[in-house]
Amino acid sequence: EYKDMSKEHMMEIRRQNCNPMIMKVTYYKKPVFIHQGHMQWLWDVDGRRYLDLFAGVATVSVGHCHPKVTAAAEKQLRKLWHTTNIYVYSPLHEYVDKLAATLPEPLKVIYLTNSGSEANDLAMLMARLHTGNFDIITLRGSYHGGSPQTMGLTSNSAYKYPIAIGLGCHNTMCPDVFAGPWGGSHCRDSPIQTIRNCSCPQGLCMANDKYIGQLKEVFATSVPSRIAAFFGEPIMGVGGAVQYPKNFLKDTYKLVRERGGVCIADEVQTGFGRTGSHFWGFQGHDIMPDIVTMAKGIANGFPMGAVVTTHEIAASFGRGVHFNTFGGNPVACAIASSVLDEDGTQQISHEMGTYLLMGLSKIRDKYEIIGDVRGKGLQIGVEMVKDKASREPLPPAAMSEIFEDTKDMGVLIGKGGVYGQTFRIKPPMCITKDDADFFLAVFNQALNNYMERKIKSINCSK
Ligand code: PMP
Repeated sequence: EYKDMSKEHMMEIRRQNCNPMIMKVTYYKKPVFIHQGHMQWLWDVDGRRYLDLFAGVATVSVGHCHPKVTAAAEKQLRKLWHTTNIYVYSPLHEYVDKLAATLPEPLKVIYLTNSGSEANDLAMLMARLHTGNFDIITLRGSYHGGSPQTMGLTSNSAYKYPIAIGLGCHNTMCPDVFAGPWGGSHCRDSPIQTIRNCSCPQGLCMANDKYIGQLKEVFATSVPSRIAAFFGEPIMGVGGAVQYPKNFLKDTYKLVRERGGVCIADEVQTGFGRTGSHFWGFQGHDIMPDIVTMAKGIANGFPMGAVVTTHEIAASFGRGVHFNTFGGNPVACAIASSVLDEDGTQQISHEMGTYLLMGLSKIRDKYEIIGDVRGKGLQIGVEMVKDKASREPLPPAAMSEIFEDTKDMGVLIGKGGVYGQTFRIKPPMCITKDDADFFLAVFNQALNNYMERKIKSINCSK
């Protein structure tokens, strides 16, 4: 019988032998010591059960230790763990055939990697080789990886180091219709709009033109006339579920292509049905990327990533040898195949996501410290503010109190946004209405507790 190490022993090892940074991002004042997972649930070493609405950052897509996925892994582990993809073996071909079928023409050529950063590194390289250009544009607040190259795409200081990162990487203003300088109540593609007052004529989003204007300014000031690529997450992940004005991606893609660049959709968080209405986050925006990158949910938590592109781009890239030892590992492929076989997850994302968004928007209306509720499917953000009028971020200490309390009542959620001001809800795509109701009750209670403590402290200091 397997027994966990003692908590003290694990913390000591963490202090002595682990990446010191993980101590800082342990997130909770009282850490959670995980023992086991099943579907949407996690158990700690003391047997306490948590509803996991963060899913290892949108990674456990169909459920922790999903029985069918686990069975597929076990079956493959008994047959073949590894070989190099210079040989021909079934799991890889079964998988890429299935994955290609989920993507529209001309996105049909697949490269398998082991992580999202690796996929984005590869996509950067492809874009540069194919276009013969160097400069790449991303959105402020985005996250595209932590390798020295992708660190340049990522636009969040917390993840940057003082090295020669990001040569040729430029950011344009994040078209955030809640917290940004422009935006209002009818700009984005979401069941829930921001409650910010907007002077735009009804149905016409002027904010989009303003943010596109910022992109044009980047073209005019920061890059050569020809560029290699634009990288964009269909809905920001780490950046706090930011959604853009309706035509922003479409207009951006057009301008980028006019300058010789290719358009890259980073679907590391938004892929595989997470946005509910579509299987891929880019769908529904009237755009067609030239390259799509994916990871996280691709294999339900098993390390894997992929880049999908066109035959044309693959041909430009094919002039050199690209090799990756683990990319296309048979076990990873068998797992990823069984993830694709799992029916109904996109529907659950759509239904439960919409239900959660509706519930959260009611809670938003009750509390002065909730500024915005947004997202699509099970990619949801709740932006916390000092007050609705200022839209200024709720300070980290207050965020932590609500976050810790939510956890103590049995629900794990995430934090994000450039200022750590947004709660992130991106559960395994198997949650039920009861789970959603439980979370809504817990979150409401945590906010209530916070407000009561705040009122008490004001009264005491009088
Ligand atoms: N792109 C996005 C949108 C991500 O959220 C992440 C991870 N948070 C990455 C890329 C990098 O993926 P990985 O951590 O697997 O390298």
